[in-house]
Amino acid sequence: MRNGFVSVEHEDGGWDRNRGYARGRGRGRGRGFRGRGRGGYNGPQVDAQQDMGGYNQEPPFQGRGRGRGRGNRGRGRVFYMAVEVGTTMEMNEDILIVGAGIGGLTTCLGLHRLGLRSLVLESSDSLRVTGFALGTWKNAWRALDALGVGDSIRQQHMQIQGLQVFSTISGQPTSEISFGGEGGIHEIRCVRRKVLLETLERELPCGSIRYSSKVVSIQESGHYKTVHLADGSVLKAKVLIGCDGVNSVVANWLGLDKPVDSGRSAVRGIVEFPDGHGLEPKFRLHFGNGVRHGVIPCGPTTLYWFLTFAPSVHGVDTEELEQNPAKMKDFVLSKLGKLPQHIENVYEKTALDCMSCSPLKFRLPWKVATGHIYKGNVCVAGDALHPMTPDLGQGGCSAMEDGVVLARCLGEVLLRKPTREDGEGKDEEYYKRISEGLEKYAKERRWRSVKLITTAYVVGLIQESDWKVVRFLREKFLSGFLAKFFLRMGDFDCGQLSIS
Ligand SMILES: Cc1cc2nc3c(=O)[nH]c(=O)nc-3n(C[C@H](O)[C@H](O)[C@H](O)COP(=O)(O)OP(=O)(O)OC[C@H]3O[C@@H](n4cnc5c(N)ncnc54)[C@H](O)[C@@H]3O)c2cc1C
Repeated sequence: MRNGFVSVEHEDGGWDRNRGYARGRGRGRGRGFRGRGRGGYNGPQVDAQQDMGGYNQEPPFQGRGRGRGRGNRGRGRVFYMAVEVGTTMEMNEDILIVGAGIGGLTTCLGLHRLGLRSLVLESSDSLRVTGFALGTWKNAWRALDALGVGDSIRQQHMQIQGLQVFSTISGQPTSEISFGGEGGIHEIRCVRRKVLLETLERELPCGSIRYSSKVVSIQESGHYKTVHLADGSVLKAKVLIGCDGVNSVVANWLGLDKPVDSGRSAVRGIVEFPDGHGLEPKFRLHFGNGVRHGVIPCGPTTLYWFLTFAPSVHGVDTEELEQNPAKMKDFVLSKLGKLPQHIENVYEKTALDCMSCSPLKFRLPWKVATGHIYKGNVCVAGDALHPMTPDLGQGGCSAMEDGVVLARCLGEVLLRKPTREDGEGKDEEYYKRISEGLEKYAKERRWRSVKLITTAYVVGLIQESDWKVVRFLREKFLSGFLAKFFLRMGDFDCGQLSIS
């Protein structure tokens, strides 16, 4: 089936050479991978030999249609074709990604930039924007640039020029570091999640995300994986990527141990000041009294804030706070410690529906070091791989790194010309190639994940501890040292999407 998004399995079980992207009936000029439309992405070019040789015989569909806009999204119609198996409809897909969060969308976009089509299954009925905003460090900007969306997100968020650390006990600054000013060497911004996810989604071909599609179980079927959805649909995939967050079904299938409770929780909030918040473009971080809280501007009118704490130490219940936003806000206000009135106003002015509270989980680093983070044609990325405490602000940033590395590793193996032409052998060869690509991905990401989880945990312990000795050391020496850790962990380069 040409230009159909999902099609019946070929008799030889091989990759469908004739499939392009969904044919959108969308309005507008195409903005496909080759970037013929206005502002199109001029990213990695896969040479013709490779492009014709392997996974996708035809370049992705360049959107067509009348009028202005983006042809590959909008109101495009996707053609599905399914095979009836018993009473359920079974559909085949080459690359399936579970979860349309930061990890899932960056992976899908990375693959798209390389000319590889994938389908993202998302359990919600629309993009899920939990957590309001996130700090993005240099590593995230490198990944976003590799994906061709860095500039559009940059334009909507101010660059943060430094980090100021304060004691909640004395109210005094304990250290300050500069990020090097506008255009400086450390690019840090606080990005609204909605803007980030919508930007990534907009760059994808129409029909790349299938909403209201909750994966409930996974089965082995030869070289394929059969994925069962809550609505009874069944999909078969040649590659299955779990980007389904901290409670990942795919990680569970791989046999990875479940993430553990860190014994800490976080409240997060966002607040708009229509006439401007007037704060400097700096990240303010306050430690002491067994809490850690901070404020960071997204732009001239929007501020994001957070507070982390150990519920058992403060005698509160996270679930109760989650269900009672007024109580949540009172709790936050009671824990801020000494700080200037204009900063306290940031928390006070936050609307109750602009706050949320959640427990903090992480995967034990030695489980990541020794566990199956990939197996055959299945792997995990983002929080499904390395859930970590938020003390470095690296969970989302490293999910973007994962997306770029994973897309590149799969591109390298799937865009190579196949050596076997017959059905059985070809199928076997592709399975081996996928496995080879995922092994390389796992090799690149395993130790980075271990390092991030461990460092975040230790930094969190030191920042939030109320022990006298730790408090003394933190206020005298450690906060500047810890602040430098933020920069060091964020200064990672996941590389480009280009294929050699
Ligand atoms: C308090 C706090 C502050 C943080 N601050 C930062 C920060 O400053 N910087 C930073 O980089 N990171 C930060 N993080 C971490 C960051 O939020 C996560 O690492 C990031 O969101 C992970 O993205 P993901 O795509 O892997 O997972 P998620 O964002 O959890 O996305 C998973 C997606 O999968 C879907 N899904 C789940 N199960 C299924 C299923 N069975 N079938 C289909 N779909 C499914 C979900 O609906 C969801 O859309 C913070 C986290 C917390 C808790």
